Formats: sequence, C-alpha cells, structure tokens
Amino acid sequence: MENNLLFIANWKMNNAYADLVSYFNIFLPLYNQTKPVNDVVFLPPFTLLYLIKEILKATNLKWGAQNFYYESKGAFTGEISALMIKDTGSTYVLIGHSERRKYFKENSQIIANKLHKAFSENIIPIVCVGETLEERKSGKTFSVLANQMKPILKTYQNFINKEIVVAYEPVWAIGTGVNATIEEIKESHSFILSLFLKQSWVNDSNIKIVYGGSIDSKITPAIVSLDVVNGCLVGGASLKPEEFIKIVNTIRS
Ligand code: PEP
Repeated sequence: MENNLLFIANWKMNNAYADLVSYFNIFLPLYNQTKPVNDVVFLPPFTLLYLIKEILKATNLKWGAQNFYYESKGAFTGEISALMIKDTGSTYVLIGHSERRKYFKENSQIIANKLHKAFSENIIPIVCVGETLEERKSGKTFSVLANQMKPILKTYQNFINKEIVVAYEPVWAIGTGVNATIEEIKESHSFILSLFLKQSWVNDSNIKIVYGGSIDSKITPAIVSLDVVNGCLVGGASLKPEEFIKIVNTIRS
C-alpha cells in the first residue's frame, strides 16, 4: 500500500459560515507553514460546500459531502443529488456512516445505490463499515464486516478502475474517546483488504482503507504505522484546527 496517507475531516452537523471562516484563518497558515505531505479532505455540512470551494480552491486540500441521494433529480424534497455535489467542486462523498445507518435507516441497498451513483459521476466514495459493541463482544466482527462489504464489492466490480476508500469505523469507538486497539485495527483492516484481494479483478492501487473512531494526534502515529492503514477518518478532533493540523502532519514510521 502507498506511503502517503489520507486524512478526512468529518465535521458532521457542526459549523456555520462564520465558524468555517475562522477555522481556515487558523488552519491555512499552519498548513502553509508545515506543508503536510498527506492528502487532506474536508467534509463540511452541505451549506458550506460553495464557501469551502472559494476558500480552498487555490490549495492542495480537497473537500466533499457527508451524504447525497442516489437519484439524478426530481421530486425528492430535501435531498441533494450527486451532480449538485459535483457543482460545489467536491471530489469525495461519505457513504454509509454508522450515524446514517442508525438514525436514517440506511441499509445495504441504499448504500449500494449511492456507491453506484458516486462511481458513475466520478465522485470518490468513502464508504463506512464497522461492528457494534454487542457484535464485537459476541465474536461477530468479521461476519458483520463481510456482510457489509458484500454489496460494496458487488457494486465495485463494475467500476474496478475507480478509486474507493473504505473507512473501518467500529461503532463503539465513534465519539466515545475509546480507540480500537492497534491489534483490533490491524485484524479488521487486514480482513477487509483480504476481501478485496480475493476478487480476481481487483487492482489494489485503487483501494484505500482508513480507520475512524476517536482519533487524536497522540494515537494517530501508532495507527498509521500499520501498513494496512492508509489514513484516518476524523470526527471530533477535526473540528479543532490546531489538533487536526497535527494529525494531518503525521508521517508513517
Ligand atoms: C466519525 O464521525 O466518523 C468519527 C470517527 O468520529 P470521532 O472521531 O469523533 O470518533
């Protein structure tokens, strides 16, 4: 797997216009000063996508949406299409975050439809998988991951030349301050990678597997020292520019 890492900031339902401006007033000087070699993607709320485009367009930083709807257009009140996201200069979209699976009842079919649409519109999907605490405790982690990966692999089979990012996010580690152990991360990432590599058609240079779950700048070096980890999906810590810049400056040892 490649050496440069991918760090993704999932801002969730946080930050309004003025917050984004003050965030980048702090983040951009630090970014220009420290010149991180890693790839960085911001996922702000929909309402800030045009503003982030204006602020980041002259930088190497990328941005994307936290969600979209898979139909092209029409009577879907309140939804945002892939083309609308592309209009904002987004290169990435998050799909199947556990909060969307839980609160908005996104199932495997919806996730596969979104994945299909993202690939068709040349938006790089960041698709999330991960087990709950109960599933882990009852020894079902690998079967849960295998089930979640099935529709993803089936869809990806039609788009093998496209980039895909899979985020392994154990649900019990999201927003809890509890990280998975290095051993647990290694096992799960290796398992997800093996599911890809079992497919004769896979080109592994198009695949990235990132870890998410209570990431901070202290734990990041140990996590990205694993060669099966291509970066991190960061929630809470990405809201603090001084902390996030430390994370994106992490070098794989
Ligand atoms: C997330 O939202 O995907 C996430 C990993 O959040 P946190 O870093 O806050 O646990």
